[in-house]
Amino acid sequence: MTRSRDEDTAFFGHPSGLSTLFFTEMWERFSYYGMRALLILFMTASITQGGLGFDVSKAGAVYGAYTSMVYMLALPGGWIADRVLGLRRAVFYGGVLIMAGHVSLAIPSVSAFYLGLVLVVLGTGLLKPNISALVGTLYTPDDVRRDAGFSIYYMGINLGGFIAPLVTGWLAQGEGFRGFLHGMGIAAESAWHWGFGAAAVGMFFGLVQYRFGSKRLGEGGIVPGGAVTPEEQRVQRKKLMTGLGITVALLGGIGILSVVGVVAITAVGVAQVLGVGVVAAAGLFFLWLFSSRGWSPDERRRLIVIFVLFLGAAVFWSAFEQAGSTLNLFADRSTDTRIFGVGFPASWFQSVNSLFIILLAPVMAWLWVKLGRRDPSSPTKFALGLFFLSAGFGVMIVAGSLAANGAQVSPLWLLVTYLLHTIGELALSPVGLSAMTKLAPARVTGMMMGVWFMASAVGNLIAGAFASIYESFTLPQLFGAVTGFSLIFCLVMVVLISPIKKMLARPT
Ligand code: GLN
Repeated sequence: MTRSRDEDTAFFGHPSGLSTLFFTEMWERFSYYGMRALLILFMTASITQGGLGFDVSKAGAVYGAYTSMVYMLALPGGWIADRVLGLRRAVFYGGVLIMAGHVSLAIPSVSAFYLGLVLVVLGTGLLKPNISALVGTLYTPDDVRRDAGFSIYYMGINLGGFIAPLVTGWLAQGEGFRGFLHGMGIAAESAWHWGFGAAAVGMFFGLVQYRFGSKRLGEGGIVPGGAVTPEEQRVQRKKLMTGLGITVALLGGIGILSVVGVVAITAVGVAQVLGVGVVAAAGLFFLWLFSSRGWSPDERRRLIVIFVLFLGAAVFWSAFEQAGSTLNLFADRSTDTRIFGVGFPASWFQSVNSLFIILLAPVMAWLWVKLGRRDPSSPTKFALGLFFLSAGFGVMIVAGSLAANGAQVSPLWLLVTYLLHTIGELALSPVGLSAMTKLAPARVTGMMMGVWFMASAVGNLIAGAFASIYESFTLPQLFGAVTGFSLIFCLVMVVLISPIKKMLARPT
């Protein structure tokens, strides 16, 4: 007997397909956050320690470009699923590329390292936006379980984000595992690559259960939504091939110019070009949106609000995503990583945000329901998000001053900062996507998922830039700048709350 989507309540009252997507995304985030926990530490570790021996300015640039591209490629990834592959196949191929990327990172060579980053970027672009869209296909448009379904899915993300650094951090940095490798006659410095390998194994589990669980997804996402007939699919496939051809030709051209010595390709140079590309793409996108004709006055007002929320989200992520960059360096270099005399890997701090999300998400959800009609508006929640973020970095100004002259501070400082950041994330992040999709004029709703990820792309880029200047300023100066920058944007948001509310309330 096949049951309609509304009747399927097999997974905590939700369609059984949600369990497939929950665990696939859990493993994908396991691989992403497990690897990211090590990334900047691996790049800055000396060659004798098994690292790449990069200085922080280079490591920050690579970190920013990589994490930014991971989110930026959600735009073409969404397009390819919509027009050519369909959501289901896009997620699978994306997962395969991600796994291949982590396998490549497990090989100790600089070229394998960069190849690995490129593969993870391409794979995540295909998987991340489309698996979220697949969650949407599990519910009929008026199914009241929809928002709750996304909250359960967000738990899957954070379950992966919580477990991963514990595993990869223990493998890469833990004394116990290094001792084990040494005992086996394997160089202890290769421990980093075992950590990256664990990320690959995680993605493998994700793929296996996605394959076996795919029957639970019904018909959703098999046919590309934007090209339903075979003729349309043929046309779109041709467009994709042309696009890929031009990209490969361009990259090949640059490659040849570098071989003959006309241009010098450096990691920092590539990162800078990509960075300018991300900011230019975001700017051009909004320019195109605003200059397009045919918006009604109401739609135009909504687009202005979307733009303000986009900027707020970009500022938020630019500080928040320093979890993997400056705050990771701070954990490694300036924090006492011992509890009751027992040491732990600095990368374990990377689990803290996800743990707090799992603990606090139900509390915050309860709070919003409890507030009922007094539930704050989306710009108010954005301002709150930025406020908690700024407060978290305010705490780091004190921690940074205590850590001056090479002292190691208590782990509690980072824990408090991550707690404040998580409260901020819970105020801003879930509201952000739903506000974006709700406010978007119907013709561009699909694109808004991409715009939301574009805010993460810009944010991650800036988070990398802050890591690049980690050693150029004192820690209180650096963290003070982030505190000030997010506080100013919080105040701008506070000032805009009432005009935004008025704009949205105005009749069409
Ligand atoms: N932690 C969330 C995730 O991994 C959101 C990250 C982001 O959008 N910057 O999905």
